Formats: sequence, structure tokens, C-alpha cells
Amino acid sequence: MAETALPITVAVFEAPQQVRLRQVGWPVLREGEVLVEVLGCTLCGSDLHSFTGRREVAVPTVLGHEITGRIVALGPVGGAGPVTAVDGGPVAVGDRVVWAVVASCGACDRCRRGLPQKCRSGVKYGHARLAEGREPLGGLGSHCLLLPGTSMVRLPAALPLEVTCPAGCATATVVAALEPAGDLAGRRVGIFGLGMLGLTACAMAHEAGAEVVLGIDPEPARAERAKAFGATAVATPADLPALLGDPAAGGLDLVLEMSGAAAAVAAAIEAAGVGGCVHLVGSVFPAGSVALDPEQVVRRQLTIRGTHNYAPRHLQQAVAFLEGCHERFPFAELVDCWMPLAEVDAAFDHAIASRAIRIGVRP
Ligand SMILES: [Zn+2]
Ligand SMILES: [Zn+2]
Repeated sequence: MAETALPITVAVFEAPQQVRLRQVGWPVLREGEVLVEVLGCTLCGSDLHSFTGRREVAVPTVLGHEITGRIVALGPVGGAGPVTAVDGGPVAVGDRVVWAVVASCGACDRCRRGLPQKCRSGVKYGHARLAEGREPLGGLGSHCLLLPGTSMVRLPAALPLEVTCPAGCATATVVAALEPAGDLAGRRVGIFGLGMLGLTACAMAHEAGAEVVLGIDPEPARAERAKAFGATAVATPADLPALLGDPAAGGLDLVLEMSGAAAAVAAAIEAAGVGGCVHLVGSVFPAGSVALDPEQVVRRQLTIRGTHNYAPRHLQQAVAFLEGCHERFPFAELVDCWMPLAEVDAAFDHAIASRAIRIGVRP
């Protein structure tokens, strides 16, 4: 490892509004481990919620989980053979990759039933409590240590950093949220909350042939932007009753709730028509309870489900989707600017103050 002389820098989140840059030693790579240099990391809404204290996170930690990196070192090859990407091919030094937000064991009951993101011994990048000698486990650093059980996807050279970073959280999560909905051709889809998740969902629903892609956001400017991402119509929640009428007579076939706001969750359930599905995705921070009229769930035969993170195949599908569509939809423009790791405090402040869809941080 020629680069062992270079220090590794990590931005350690210690308490709300407090991030401190720290230099740490080069980790000794164990079997199945990979070290990447971080090329860039975009700040996801959850990072902002963690930073402000709205969302609970084990501290100290290195935040950031929408990461793109380049492999700089591989641990020793053991009995399990070389480390492979999701497509089965071995990874090599120099590969540009994104990886799943959770490193999973592959053996516990949840991994075996197809929920590796809920692995009982899973380690979540950008969320793990700092451990001596194993510090770089988040995107806000010069390097990131990838543990065994991390699903990696090699990136096509044509995909820019602005597009690849969100793949490991927002894009893959939307793929996972849409999967149980099946074929969207000819269906009426509504999407509440037009941030990164919502805009991505508009584009995917459009590409899947949905007849209606209705983007809904309380801010008219955010709603308007969805038109560039495949929305066939946009609305604010106040417009909905007039637009959709009686849900028992019309309503939407699939409603995705991406904002996590309690009022939006209630409105999403209200907007689903007979046989409709409501997929909750944005509720990843405490936002209070929502009243539910069970008679409406029964009479309209609604399905309400939650999606949190995703499985490896969803990440691979996310990268394939972006490869096919990143020029058709202005995904690259959603990263407002890149700020240096040395100014990570300012990056968080700017992300919160500007309400930009994404701010990027890179070493
Ligand atoms: Zn995220
Ligand atoms: Zn497991």
C-alpha cells in the first residue's frame, strides 16, 4: 500500500451542529475489506436531520451515505475468494464504485428473507459509531472503509459524480419502493414531496409508462420542477380535492409519500383510489401520528406499506436507470454546488439555508 503515508481525514459528527475534522490512521484491511478514496458525497435529507438533531444518531460518527469512491486498496483474499461487485465480477484497485448503505451478514433471518437492509448485525455507512482503527465508515471523509457484505456496483465512466452519489440512497430507495407496485404502464401515480426521492420517482414512473404522474408539493416552485422529471401534472396539496374528486370514484392507483410530513401521509392515504397502494418512504424521522380511518382502508381495499433502504439488486437497477436516463432528466443539476471537506460545517449550513435538493462535499 503505497499510500499509507498519507493521513486519512474524517469529519466527525459529535453533537447537533458540531462536526470536527480529524486525522486518523490508515486502517489495517482484513479479509474481504476494501478501502476507497471518496470522490464525492452528497448530503441527503437524513444527514441534515442528523446534523440538526431532529433525527437520533449514535455519536461520534462520520455522516454521509450518498458516496462515490475509487478503490485504492483491497484486503487479503481469504477462503471466500476475491471481493466481488453485485454483478458477480471481482472488483479491482482503480474501479469507481457506489455501494449499499448497509453492510449485511447474509446469514441472519432477515438477510435470508430478503431484507439485508435490516440485517441483525448490519453496519450502516454514515451512521455507525466511531471505532478506533475503523473510523472511515461514512462519506464525509477522504476515504471510506468497505466491510465484508457490502454490495458494490461499478460505475459506467459516462455517469458524472452529481448523478452517481445519490444512487446509493435516494435512487436505490425509489427502485425498492416501486418494485412491489409491479407494472406501472397505464396507471395513475401520485408522488408527495418533490425532493430528490420524489423527483426520482417521477422520472421512474414516467419511464415505466404511467399514464398519470402527478407531482405534489406544498411549494409551487418545487412542484413545477417535477415537470422536467416526467411529471404529467403538478399540484399543491390544496389543489388535490378539486383535482382528484371523491377517491372512492377516482383517485390514484399508486401513491408514493416521500416527504415524511404527517399531513402529507394523511393526504397520500386520502388520494388513493379503490385498490390503491400507498407506499410510505419519507417517514424516516419522528413526525407524529396520523389518524387512519380503517373503514376507508377496507372499503377502498387499500394497501399501505413502508420501504426503508433497499436490497443490492435495487442499487444495481438504480445505476442502470441513471445510465439510461441521466441525460433525459436533469439529475446532474440537482447538486447545487460542491464544497470542500475542509468546509463541511459551511456545507451543512448552506444545505439547510438554501434548501437545495443536494449539496455535495468532496475532499
Ligand atoms: Zn439518505
Ligand atoms: Zn444479516
